[in-house]
Amino acid sequence: MAQENSQQFEYRAEMKQLLHLIIHSLYTHPEIFLRELISNSSDALNKVRFRKMSGDALRDADQPLEIRISLDSKQHLFTISDTGIGMTRDDLINKIGTIASSGTLEFLKQLKEGQKNPEETLIGQFGVGFYAVFMVADEVTVETCAAGPDEPAWRWQSTGEGAYTISAGERKTRGTTITLRLKESGQEFARAYKIREIITKYSNFVTFPIFLENDRINTVEALWHKKPDEVKESERTEFYKFISGDPDAPLAHFSINVEGSVNFKALLFVPQHAPHDLFNLQHEKSLSLYSNKVLIQHDCKELLPEYLRFLKGVVDTSDLPLNVSREVTQSSPAMQKIRNIIISKTLAFLQTTAEENTAQYRTFYKNFGPLLKTGINSDFENREKIVELLRFETSKTGEDEILSLKEYCARMPADQKEIYFLAGEQRESVLNNPNLEIFRKNGWETLLLTEPVDIFIIPAIGTYAGKNLVSIDQADIAALSGGKIEKIENSLHVSLINLFKETLKDVVEDVVVSKRLVDSPATLVTGKNGMNTPLEKMMRLMQKDFKPAKKIMEINLDHPLLQNLSRLYLTDSAHPLLRSCIFQLFDSVSLLDGTIPSVAAMVKRMNTIMEQATK
Ligand code: ADP
Repeated sequence: MAQENSQQFEYRAEMKQLLHLIIHSLYTHPEIFLRELISNSSDALNKVRFRKMSGDALRDADQPLEIRISLDSKQHLFTISDTGIGMTRDDLINKIGTIASSGTLEFLKQLKEGQKNPEETLIGQFGVGFYAVFMVADEVTVETCAAGPDEPAWRWQSTGEGAYTISAGERKTRGTTITLRLKESGQEFARAYKIREIITKYSNFVTFPIFLENDRINTVEALWHKKPDEVKESERTEFYKFISGDPDAPLAHFSINVEGSVNFKALLFVPQHAPHDLFNLQHEKSLSLYSNKVLIQHDCKELLPEYLRFLKGVVDTSDLPLNVSREVTQSSPAMQKIRNIIISKTLAFLQTTAEENTAQYRTFYKNFGPLLKTGINSDFENREKIVELLRFETSKTGEDEILSLKEYCARMPADQKEIYFLAGEQRESVLNNPNLEIFRKNGWETLLLTEPVDIFIIPAIGTYAGKNLVSIDQADIAALSGGKIEKIENSLHVSLINLFKETLKDVVEDVVVSKRLVDSPATLVTGKNGMNTPLEKMMRLMQKDFKPAKKIMEINLDHPLLQNLSRLYLTDSAHPLLRSCIFQLFDSVSLLDGTIPSVAAMVKRMNTIMEQATK
């Protein structure tokens, strides 16, 4: 009778591609099929528990919530059965027959093309889901009965090749049974020792009992309900690996236990490594929300602001109304309070780590600092706390040393009134910027901003401890050297400067005598209406027709080159080399500044100058 009602469905094109990739390229970790199946069963059981607690009518309400696995090594069969929420016919078509995440197929293609390392973490993170079964099976049968009182049973069957069939099923009680006919290469998965080994590795912390041929094999414990010192380090690490899919131990962990106007417990982890794209964490599992040990939601985004989404862990509260919709739960005042407490406890934890375990903090900061910093522009309430967590390389720090703003201020000489920073792409190039010379000479330390996000964030801080944060190419040197710019009394210098101004009138805003240069002949600084250089570069990348403001060229009259030019001017003010050298000097400083107008013109002129110099 089942066969009579059988209906065949074609997989969609993208699904066929996915299946092809799964069957032909992902052999490296076939055992993950089991983790996927157990996690689906566990989700299905959670849904039942959740419904029970909300008082909904359920079929077979007294069935124990559990997962059972049975094996038949002679027939090469693997069977997993749960008493979960089950599936309707529509579920079988809409949920089993489609790819969960649109990123998955793209990712798997890259994996196949060898652009990505097929590490188990990555495969785990993206999760090929149910279809992982086709890595080990050549025929899969799903028998399921949904939890609603009068739902009929259904059977879904496929060889993973292009189509599946759905027919009336025979299951009598609520839940789902999935039977795999194992292929030749997958036959070890009908062996108990193998299955036991995999479950211990991947699924030990599943919150429902898993039975293998009547033996209970997982430990079911809500670690976050225990006192932190009652949990063994190894247990905690295993738990972290289980919830995060990360094969490595976490960098750090901390617990929160709050009782009062809101009640919750949390066990939170900071990973050892940054994910492959820190600014795109949508595939990352962050915090799971529980209510009295019952999972409400994996990766509950409302619990954390974007800038802290590197955290992993669980949050368990009894304060959320379970019988209302998820949307209401999310916007409930309890949720807001929990979120605020998690933020402040996390920032406090990071602050303590920074003070007491600098090596660990440095690792954290290197990995997650760029994301954390964005909180300065998005979380105004906690801005000051985040500012305290910032660390910088400076013109004086050694390779691995980083300073907080507090430490920087403590090191400031008495005559330094402002906090200086300089942005650029790399430490080396920033350190070679001629504008740093006067700062070095005076012993004024400069923060080096080499992260691309810095330029959007650090200037926005404005002031720290009453001191302005100033980009050194915008600093008012005359004011900071405490005096007025000395008058240029030497009329020869006045004439030379005028010649510079006239020669460069189309390309610079002004030419002035420098107070900041010590060893270099000239430099460019931001003019009255200009932006700082890295921001300008960014603007040019974003808008093709962006016209940067002209800069001010500063020249160092003590430099031998300028002295030679003065002498040349004295003997022959119309000497062609004079103007070529002025243009050349402008091009050289533009090159350092990253804003050179034409490299070809510069090279041509330089060749002429060398030719004349070697005559
Ligand atoms: P994901 O679990 O990431 O959603 P899967 O491909 O593993 O992706 O599963 C797709 C969907 O099929 C699940 O979201 C769930 O709705 C349904 N499903 C899978 N296994 C079960 C099960 N054992 N019981 C009930 N529903 C299930």
